[in-house]
Amino acid sequence: MMMRRVASTPVPDWLETLLSTRFFLACAAHPASPRNECNMFCLDCRGAPPPAFCYYCRAHRHAAHRVIQIRRSSYHDVVRVSEVEDVLDITGVQTYVINSARVLFLNERPQPRGAGAAAGKAAASPYNCEICSRALLDPFRFCSLGCKLVDTKRSTGHAAATGGSVGDAGGANEEAAAAGGSKNGARPQGRRRKGIPHRAPFWS
Ligand SMILES: [Zn+2]
Ligand SMILES: [Zn+2]
Ligand SMILES: [Zn+2]
Repeated sequence: MMMRRVASTPVPDWLETLLSTRFFLACAAHPASPRNECNMFCLDCRGAPPPAFCYYCRAHRHAAHRVIQIRRSSYHDVVRVSEVEDVLDITGVQTYVINSARVLFLNERPQPRGAGAAAGKAAASPYNCEICSRALLDPFRFCSLGCKLVDTKRSTGHAAATGGSVGDAGGANEEAAAAGGSKNGARPQGRRRKGIPHRAPFWS
């Protein structure tokens, strides 16, 4: 049994995988089953492919593992604070109460640019994300885990942060792109591109 102590690792090696994974696609292994959307992520498998899997995959392959469920709010991925606070340092990340559960966003959300109601509101807010400038409700530093990770990488000096974060059209996935020389050998870009393999069913 390998005991992983989170306290010794400020940024767990699976975090970039979690943030760069596309959830809510239909499971390639269970194409005809009703609950086959891939909205689960296994902390014990640490994002080993496929990082996103469905209800049935969980029962088959991750029954005794620590699995977190990804949820959606207005088409953006969120996780419940209660499911990640013990394994992740979420200090400084804005949390929201949605459906009576406290959640936080995985990634930066694209914002309308130029003049407009939303932009005006953002300018008026006393609190803004330090990375993407999104207006925050409360005095937090970041809008999402993704923006916090960008800051963490900057402060640890690794990945040199490419400088294009604020106002960059690449938006939410730039932290994956910036991860070029990742020390743990993960390849967020490659893994992201791969997604779910297409396989035509024989009986179609
Ligand atoms: Zn499945
Ligand atoms: Zn697992
Ligand atoms: Zn942000």
